[in-house]
Amino acid sequence: MKAKDILKQLITKKISVKEVTQKYLENINKKNSILNAFITVFDEDFINEQVEKAQEMINKGNLTPVVGLPIAVKDNINLKGYPTTCASKILSNYVSPYNATVVEKLMYSGAIIVGKTNLDEFAMGSSNENSYYGVVRNPLNLEWVSGGSSGGSAVAVSADMVPLSLGSDTGGSIRLPAAFTGIYGLKPTYGMVSRFGLVAYASSLDQIGPMGKDPQDLALIMQVIAGYDPKDSTSYRDITIDFINENFEPNFELDSLKGLKIGVPFKIINDEGVDKIIRDCLNEFINTLANNEIEIIEIDFPYLSYSIPAYYIIASSEASSNLARYDGIRYGLRIEHFQDKLIEDTRTLMKITRGQGFGLEVKRRIMIGTFCLSSGYYDAYYKKAQQVRTLIKQDFQKIFNKVDLIIMPTSPTLPFKIGEKINDPIKMYLSDIYTVGVNLSGLPSLNIPIKYQDFYVGVQLIGNYFKEKFLLNVANLINLL
Ligand code: GLN
Repeated sequence: MKAKDILKQLITKKISVKEVTQKYLENINKKNSILNAFITVFDEDFINEQVEKAQEMINKGNLTPVVGLPIAVKDNINLKGYPTTCASKILSNYVSPYNATVVEKLMYSGAIIVGKTNLDEFAMGSSNENSYYGVVRNPLNLEWVSGGSSGGSAVAVSADMVPLSLGSDTGGSIRLPAAFTGIYGLKPTYGMVSRFGLVAYASSLDQIGPMGKDPQDLALIMQVIAGYDPKDSTSYRDITIDFINENFEPNFELDSLKGLKIGVPFKIINDEGVDKIIRDCLNEFINTLANNEIEIIEIDFPYLSYSIPAYYIIASSEASSNLARYDGIRYGLRIEHFQDKLIEDTRTLMKITRGQGFGLEVKRRIMIGTFCLSSGYYDAYYKKAQQVRTLIKQDFQKIFNKVDLIIMPTSPTLPFKIGEKINDPIKMYLSDIYTVGVNLSGLPSLNIPIKYQDFYVGVQLIGNYFKEKFLLNVANLINLL
């Protein structure tokens, strides 16, 4: 069931919070050993406490857009008293001392947070194969990757283990797994949702966002998690959060797509590097739009080919700095003995702890980032990448002077097989070619699943700043075509 339908039944007391929660927990129990979507499923006591609180809220008529809805949270978002592992060995024994703002808001609103989901270690990856806790399998085909890095959150929704989940998106990590598992995933505008309590990967790019099975479901949860937070200096002060109205229905302004101007990069859509199924699906989809009196405008991204190098330089540089804090002293794992001897100096302790605590991909990023930031190379790499970032941002703004939104593929390929790209980082990084530009520019973007032949194809809707409600509105109308 969709979150909006469950909410209706809960509010009208056709079902109880307990019944809903139990159904989903049963599914988790049944499926998690195969899919590996959750790293932690919370204990009965903690879940019951939330269930009772939500039911009491409903009984008293104290209603919210997420009251009684089971929700899963990516395991790089802190929830007090429970582990936040970031799917890394280095944080495997770390327990959060505080709640992330999004968690605080969801709990206050009576959501039922059932557990923490698997991810690529520190959110670095596109396939969810880089987890200390093992690969997340795709429920559409168990041999396929789920997409990453929010693979667990995507699979939890796709396999009906929860109706809604939270992921994080630094370069595509909400949209790509949403595309691979056939669901909706929204990367909000940078600054729209507080990042307080999200473990930092690349701070100028990271953003928390929701995943679900319907655009209206995402509107419900956005109403709760979006908005200014004094604890996050990058969150925006002056934005109206009006995703839904008093009746918990979406506040969508458009009732037809007629007359919209949609920018389509045909060069990308027809690129040989894009899987044929995706090309065919998008062309057919664009035709349908054109037949519905939507104006299709061809657009071009001159700097697109630079977005992957710029992104991987900036993200790795920020990561090398953010991950310096895992040193065996302040957080998580500490290796005190090496080859049966007590380690006596701090430097060695840090080295051995980091050497054993981080996985291969994280180490690769730290090395790339440290190199790019080192004196003598900074101007050639980091500064250049920032300049390219500005050009990419300008590309988008020029396009948004002409169109209302952009449509392009989320991923150049359909989900690939587990193991297929894991030894070829460049191939893996190319999965992000159509998603990272959005993060470099801070824009909002929504993956919508389109069923085509036997596959789900992920189509990306990109809007201008703070247009997430509009994107959800358009997605909702697309469903009615
Ligand atoms: N695949 C990208 C990376 O590895 C994006 C990750 C993300 O959005 N967290 O950096």
